[in-house]
Amino acid sequence: MTLVWFAAGARRWPDYREHLPEALAEAGVAARVVTKAPEPEAVDYIVFAPGGDVTDFTPYRRAKAVLSLWAGVERIVGNTSLTQPLCRMVDPALTEGMLDWVTGHVLRHHLDLDRWIRHEPGWHQIVPPLARERTVAVLGLGELGAACATALAGLRFRTLGWSRSPKALPDVETHHGEASLEAVLRQAEIVVTLLPATPETDNLMDARRLGWLPKHAVLLNPGRGTLIDDEALLAALDEGRLGHATLDVFRVEPLPDGHPFRSHPRITVTPHIAAETRPASASRVIAENIRRGEAGEPFLHLVDRRRGY
Ligand code: NAP
Repeated sequence: MTLVWFAAGARRWPDYREHLPEALAEAGVAARVVTKAPEPEAVDYIVFAPGGDVTDFTPYRRAKAVLSLWAGVERIVGNTSLTQPLCRMVDPALTEGMLDWVTGHVLRHHLDLDRWIRHEPGWHQIVPPLARERTVAVLGLGELGAACATALAGLRFRTLGWSRSPKALPDVETHHGEASLEAVLRQAEIVVTLLPATPETDNLMDARRLGWLPKHAVLLNPGRGTLIDDEALLAALDEGRLGHATLDVFRVEPLPDGHPFRSHPRITVTPHIAAETRPASASRVIAENIRRGEAGEPFLHLVDRRRGY
């Protein structure tokens, strides 16, 4: 019998108590899921989330994989005690959540919805451009970024995409590499940052790069807080160079009450809810990887430890 240690924390277990065993059974895996730390030698798979029950993986050398419930793995990827394969969460429901958040917030700014929700007095017929006349850039074309860029292009936005390696997506003008970032940002009326937190992406949107954006551009960050230089962002907004920032992720979470982002009139804060891991579908992803491990098939969604994502 395969032993799965749910080490993602007691707080999360009630959400998985039924779904995970059910998904394992559906995948045809004879497994026992436990929440209390078992004998290290007995553990076959570890289900992980930051803030859970395991930080030192050394005793679990026999484990065949560590399976993260989170898509972003910056809080585990540098753990030197981790020698087991690490798989991250790629879940259709998580992607759908991100699509909803990104398209919703892009349309908010595209249509200038705030103006009408505020009950602008008078009768100023300010007609927004058509979506195809609006340029949106998505930085990061992985599981989430590619889906968002494709959806935005489907809504007829002129969509640019940027990633580390070359990509081809229908109706999306793709660019890659550091050298092309300036050209992308200079056109981006709305920019969506969907990159992982790595040393290379830290402060990616600094004063210089924020300065490349067209005047009154809007920044949407559902990626990671470290992608943004917070001080530079506040300065760009205060000086009227940037129009608005909608932020879902922060360097410190929960975002402290007195943080300047909370009260800034041109910042919208959402509390890291853009794309939550959904236990039912996430359990199926975990179960499929365990099935693969047991069948000797390659794991899905393996993290490249060297790249950090
Ligand atoms: P992913 O599949 O790993 O894709 C990452 C993308 O970023 C890839 O296209 C990659 O380029 C690109 N990239 C990485 N480093 C780069 C660099 N230095 N320069 C240019 N491009 C670079 O990740 P994902 O599943 O789409 O998720 C993206 C991020 O979203 C996660 O890391 C996580 O931080 C965040 N997230 C947030 C929430 C939320 O609720 N707010 C939920 C889930 C995830 P290549 O394709 O060339 O490798």
